[in-house]
Amino acid sequence: MTSLKIDVHIHTTYSDSTATVNDVIKVAKKKGLDGVVITDHDTIDGAKEATSKASKLIIIPGEEVATIKGHILALGINEPISKWLPPENAISRIHKQNGLAVIPHPTFPFVDKLPRKEISNLPINGIEVFSAATPLAWHYFRRGLALARDMGLPILAGSDSHFAETVGDAYTIVYAEDKEASSILKAIKQGRTDVGCRPSKLIYKVRMIKNMGLGLLHFR
Ligand SMILES: [Zn+2]
Ligand SMILES: [Zn+2]
Repeated sequence: MTSLKIDVHIHTTYSDSTATVNDVIKVAKKKGLDGVVITDHDTIDGAKEATSKASKLIIIPGEEVATIKGHILALGINEPISKWLPPENAISRIHKQNGLAVIPHPTFPFVDKLPRKEISNLPINGIEVFSAATPLAWHYFRRGLALARDMGLPILAGSDSHFAETVGDAYTIVYAEDKEASSILKAIKQGRTDVGCRPSKLIYKVRMIKNMGLGLLHFR
């Protein structure tokens, strides 16, 4: 058994981050992460670039899928999932690829309109209980933890990085058999996780909201 630090929610220049794939890899190593999941909005091209780069860092491909009801993180997929599907369809496509469907920032009202009741009815595999990018991160952490506990779901944490500097601000601690992506996904699915976290510096949150601008409304 090995415990691994994995930031499960990172964007690159392939979607709306200013960080290149190389930046993400560099910072993740510097901050002592064992691995990252690249989760660009509606594309896995950044994840593919990262996977192709020889590096000691564990790279798990992923995507942040925009469904008609809000964002869903797909961890461990090899084919992109198209956007604007109903959440149940997106999740079944994720599962067909043996990926995991995780609800990011589940209780952050500005980004998601997946109400609690609907989340409970979806066959999801985990809750991102801590998002380093969310304003009032600790407040939402408590609510996310309560939600995961009520639903009996694994807990995860991610940085939701849109800048190189914030990579690794939050990460999921995974107790896996070994460092293979499949073992890590299996451990997450079985709830062998913990979270390591601190909120990102306010300046990055402000910058992110500025950059998102009307895009934020678009996602609602
Ligand atoms: Zn999101
Ligand atoms: Zn995100």
